[in-house]
Amino acid sequence: MNDPKYLAELINSNNIEDIVNFMKDNDIILNRAPYCNKWKKDMKWSKKEMLSDKFLWRCSTCGESKSIRHASFFSQFDIQFVKILKIILYWSLQMCQNEISKLVGVSLVTINRLFQRLRLLCIRDLDKENLSLGGNGEVVESTNPTTKVNTNGIESIWCCGKSLFKKRRGVNRCYLQTYLDEYCWRHNKNLDRIGALGAVLKIIVHLNKSFNEIDFLTETLKSVNMEELKDDLE
Ligand SMILES: [Zn+2]
Repeated sequence: MNDPKYLAELINSNNIEDIVNFMKDNDIILNRAPYCNKWKKDMKWSKKEMLSDKFLWRCSTCGESKSIRHASFFSQFDIQFVKILKIILYWSLQMCQNEISKLVGVSLVTINRLFQRLRLLCIRDLDKENLSLGGNGEVVESTNPTTKVNTNGIESIWCCGKSLFKKRRGVNRCYLQTYLDEYCWRHNKNLDRIGALGAVLKIIVHLNKSFNEIDFLTETLKSVNMEELKDDLE
């Protein structure tokens, strides 16, 4: 994950088996076997050629299965796994949505939805307390003296931002703030285009941890015998 060039090559290789294994080994998708509540055992990582994801988690006793996207950022999308990764890669490279749509063969609506999700990740990662943006997007102030950001610097960032937005054929007003957040995130983290790929995947790993905790809690609650619990409570 610290070698985004390797990652980009891997994603473009279309080798779904290598891609999935890499993502699993690096916690970008679930790396801990989900639990079968019925048989009280861990599911097994299994290969299934007919699936576009090529793998799934499966209970060897009852056959219940879970997608490899389970309890991860990727569970929100139903397009091919490698296509999601390609869109994330091209988002990092700041390619325009029309170009991506043609390259990956996915609708603009889907790409836009994924872009919005990625921007939400940037917002999550941005230290909002250190950098606050003015309401109309033209005045940006630093509220934290330790960040040593001066207004002139910010104005020049805003100018670069504006030309970038123009390149993206205008920005829908309601999305302006999230575009700015994405821009600030790239700038604050001092990320070059390819660097944004590794950085956003790291946020996904972090996010998956909370998905994991929620999943664990839900599964634990399911396995609690409510009748027994009632007796305890009485
Ligand atoms: Zn089972």
